[in-house]
Amino acid sequence: MLKLSNIQTFYGNIMALKDVSLEVSEGEIITLIGANGAGKTTTLMSVSGIVPPKTGEIFFMGRPIHSLSPDQIVSLGISQVPEGRRIFPFLTVMENLDMGAFLRKDKDGIRKDLEYIFALFPILAERRNQPGGTLSGGEQQMLAISRAMMARPRLLLLDEPSLGLAPIIVRKIFEIIRQINAEQNTTVFLVEQNANLALKVAHRGYVMENGRITLSDSSANLLSNEAVKKAYLGI
Ligand code: ATP
Repeated sequence: MLKLSNIQTFYGNIMALKDVSLEVSEGEIITLIGANGAGKTTTLMSVSGIVPPKTGEIFFMGRPIHSLSPDQIVSLGISQVPEGRRIFPFLTVMENLDMGAFLRKDKDGIRKDLEYIFALFPILAERRNQPGGTLSGGEQQMLAISRAMMARPRLLLLDEPSLGLAPIIVRKIFEIIRQINAEQNTTVFLVEQNANLALKVAHRGYVMENGRITLSDSSANLLSNEAVKKAYLGI
């Protein structure tokens, strides 16, 4: 479904991604793990067109997307949930969700997706008229995921959904990620510093160090890999 082929991405003169290649198949949850500053967020930003790669190619459903604008990429079926949620704090929950469906015209589909989201996160239904900024951190993460889902993505890019949240909320969010993947046939590309959690929910994983992919394997193998255990799992 998604293929990154030798991409190099820069911030000015700084090369943040060095020859990154990876693949995501339809229906998978894959995770990219790595330390602070390894280049995980930049990888997602390259896919969504916010920080396009300088060289290399990105294909989505067989189509090159590395030269498209972010809105064109969204319209093809890729939505990103950014690190730190970035919901619209002065818009209500409902207005935030409407923004997610901005490019859609299928009113019936939008209504159905809204019902699905309110069933997943009943708290959002209760708070639909409240400004997004008044929600707790966990509720804002739920809203950010829901806003992205309102675009009906085929591929969901999730950047550090566990960041700053209490363990019980994180567990709930990860259960929902699994549920969305299974029930909505949404492919998930998950970036996480919490490698333990991410590898438990993902089918496969990539490890990134200093802008390069250094390891790729099934989650089960990565969880039992001695180097991964030592560097990322604290075992
Ligand atoms: P984190 O978990 O801290 O978000 P990360 O693995 O997602 O880390 P990136 O945010 O992709 O890493 O950063 C990769 C490299 O690019 C780092 O060296 C970082 O300092 C640099 N970088 C990121 N954003 C910018 C920017 N806007 N301008 C300049 N350099 C940047």
